[in-house]
Amino acid sequence: MLKPVIPFAHELLEQVIKPGDLAVDATCGNGNDTLFLSQVTGQTGKVLAFDVQEQAIEETKNKLAQHNQTNVELHLDGHENIDNYLQKEQQGQVAGAIFNLGYLPKSDKTIITKAATTIEAVSILAANLKPGGRIVLVVYHGHPGGAEEKDALYDHLTALDQAHYRVLQYGFINQINQPPFILAIEKK
Ligand code: SAM
Repeated sequence: MLKPVIPFAHELLEQVIKPGDLAVDATCGNGNDTLFLSQVTGQTGKVLAFDVQEQAIEETKNKLAQHNQTNVELHLDGHENIDNYLQKEQQGQVAGAIFNLGYLPKSDKTIITKAATTIEAVSILAANLKPGGRIVLVVYHGHPGGAEEKDALYDHLTALDQAHYRVLQYGFINQINQPPFILAIEKK
């Protein structure tokens, strides 16, 4: 069966993140992706996770504690500020990063990721990927504001220099209700 977007997003990251690596969850929300990244990077690895909502940071903290995961740095801050949290030795060392765009399910639907800050964060992360590293974006766009972010992101990634990056799109084109799709960036 063709993989749904979230399992495919995880597979893309699992292929390139090894124990001991550095990974980033740019939108930790309920912590599902953070938990996944913390397990893939292992005890010797590190995950930096970001969200602008206190509730998301708390949910993620609880989820990690339930699974005894201790290799995550949680930051109540926008992913566009990731530069402030990358230590010198971590620069250029990001093996994988994930963004789940849109709003936190069952929460305030007006707190959404936005084109300018998403693109800023993607640019910083792309510059800090190690060769072969990947950024995976799960693009939800059916909510108010979602189409603008999707279009701006698409334009930005379409123009990424192919000498340095490969950019992939993956999604189901015959599903109703504006299904999410994946945009993935790999550093050559
Ligand atoms: N990955 C999450 C999970 O597994 O539950 C779902 C993430 S949800 C679709 C999007 C999240 O992005 C929300 O929790 C929202 O608060 C957060 N967000 C919005 N703007 C942000 C920003 N500038 N930086 C970091 N997180 C942001």
